[in-house]
Amino acid sequence: MTAEEFRRHGHALVDWVADYWDRVETLPVLSQVSPGEIRRRLPAHPPSLGEDFESVLSDLDSIILPGITHWQSPNFFAYFPANTSGPSVLGELVSAGLGVQGMLWSTSPACTELETHVLDWMAEMTGLPETFRSTGAGGGVLQDSASSAALCAMVAAREKATGGASNRSGCDGRLTAYASTEAHSSLHKAAGIAGIGRENHRLLPTDGALRLDPCALREAVRADRAAGLRPFFVTATVGTTSTNAMDPLAAVGEVCRSEGLWLHVDGAMSGSAAICPEFRIHLQGIEYADSYCFNPHKWLFTNFDCDCFFVADRAALIHSLSILPEYLRNQATESGAVLDYRDWQVPLGRRFRALKLWFVIRHYGVEGLRTLVRHHVDLARRFAGWVRESEDFELVVEPPLNLVCFRHRGGDEANQAILDRVNGEGSLYLTHTKVGGALTLRLSVGQTRTELRHVESAWAAIREAGRAIRRPRG
Ligand SMILES: *Cc1c(COP(=O)(O)O)cnc(C)c1O
Repeated sequence: MTAEEFRRHGHALVDWVADYWDRVETLPVLSQVSPGEIRRRLPAHPPSLGEDFESVLSDLDSIILPGITHWQSPNFFAYFPANTSGPSVLGELVSAGLGVQGMLWSTSPACTELETHVLDWMAEMTGLPETFRSTGAGGGVLQDSASSAALCAMVAAREKATGGASNRSGCDGRLTAYASTEAHSSLHKAAGIAGIGRENHRLLPTDGALRLDPCALREAVRADRAAGLRPFFVTATVGTTSTNAMDPLAAVGEVCRSEGLWLHVDGAMSGSAAICPEFRIHLQGIEYADSYCFNPHKWLFTNFDCDCFFVADRAALIHSLSILPEYLRNQATESGAVLDYRDWQVPLGRRFRALKLWFVIRHYGVEGLRTLVRHHVDLARRFAGWVRESEDFELVVEPPLNLVCFRHRGGDEANQAILDRVNGEGSLYLTHTKVGGALTLRLSVGQTRTELRHVESAWAAIREAGRAIRRPRG
């Protein structure tokens, strides 16, 4: 592709994305295709000769779009948001154009230094303790996902607990880790990958508000110690995936401190809310954390993938993941004056992710980002108010931020029917969870373009579906 052709197609594609965002709210949110349908529309064999770029673009519309679930629709209320924005996509474009590998400082100094700088900004923007900044003993790094952050945290903690032995000879099967039953599955998975063993990752009971119970944690740790095991790692979640429950960080942190355990705090979605001082209440006790992560790719207008991962002691992380084969030796690294982010993550290669975050922060400014987050929380609270006042529906838990868990009073079948109906109509997309065994509907507000009118229409559609199930069939 010549530079001229790239310019032409590139401009057309930017228009395509802008048009897509303009019209996405008119498309059925949940893709309605059946399994195999998209593949059947694709040619069985790759083209042996190059094709017109125009025909590629036209297939984008005719083949690919029908198979898209529209995460960027303002009517997307499922799971958690994965929002994006103009500055983010443009930052991604530059990153792709530069195509740098940021594994070492020397392989692109700006890639490393912008990342360090933006992570320090993030720590400041969200009110994190000084220990998480690069100017102290810790620092931040961008990971692809909260799952990777959890794995790196667990490996660093494992190494610390065994004085480096687990990196040489493996684990002895006696290390144990802890989280609540509501913690994200990525922690359980990390325990498997890190050689701790899923069986040794204890899922502890929660209190009435679905929060990790610090007393249960202390008891489990002591019982394991008494049985000759070696407790080493605890995860506390700020905003669980299922119901947005907030584990009590300070109380959990006290247990970790007195028992000598690594505390990892997972704030995947809700961590973004901490850019607003009034929502930092959920991070009270974060100073106990050895590591912490949250995902701007969920709720900070930065497209996937972008997870901010902070550690209080970077030496522990680097020791556990560092490698230095001859072909990567260089003066900057030997001098010790630079950070090499390949030592802060599982893969060697890494992309220039900080660009899109930098674009986003500079475009909106901290105040602009706060306004957007507050708007989402306000919309969720209004919705919760409508549920509270309705006769047919009830709140399952009080929403702390932007996720509303609610249900029809008619039981699981009624709620399943409502879910099927609204998702089948395509005008919005909701998902569910189970709370105390009961099917619960979740409305998660966080899409970049979601306005009051979208939440109002969602409520109207949900109520209508609720009425429809009460009407006798006939
Ligand atoms: C979404 C979520 C994750 C997983 O995030 P990825 O970045 O997709 O790995 C982990 N923890 C919590 C609490 C989440 O909500």
